[in-house]
Amino acid sequence: MVFMSDCIFCKIISGAIPSQCVFEDEFVFAFRDIAPQAPVHILVVPKVHVESAAELTDENSHLVASCFEAIAKIAADEGLGGGFRVITNAGLDGGQTVFHLHFHILGGRTLGAGLV
Ligand code: 5GP
Ligand code: ZN
Repeated sequence: MVFMSDCIFCKIISGAIPSQCVFEDEFVFAFRDIAPQAPVHILVVPKVHVESAAELTDENSHLVASCFEAIAKIAADEGLGGGFRVITNAGLDGGQTVFHLHFHILGGRTLGAGLV
């Protein structure tokens, strides 16, 4: 597995920074957000360093499918049968603060209908 030494999520995946892991398989790592914005707030990341949704290509887009398969399992495990939201922020204007592709799972309360 290739890790980017200055990337906080690569450090979490490698175990160099501790996290509350909720799911792991060959391609995906998922852990609780350090600053939760909902009762359930989990980050789902590919183990391979991809900067953002803007960097997806034919070569790495299978990682997104793996992330979403994990999201379905995690949502079921977390009791989110009533619904949840998945968000990915891309780039500075998109509000991205950690530049390793990740999907936020938000749930555990009724979320507003708005997107921004
Ligand atoms: P972004 O703003 O890039 O979409 O989301 C980054 C997320 O990573 C934020 O929700 C932030 O709370 C979370 N985060 C940043 N540093 C850490 C960390 O060290 N551990 C965990 N578990 N979450 C982190
Ligand atoms: Zn990374």
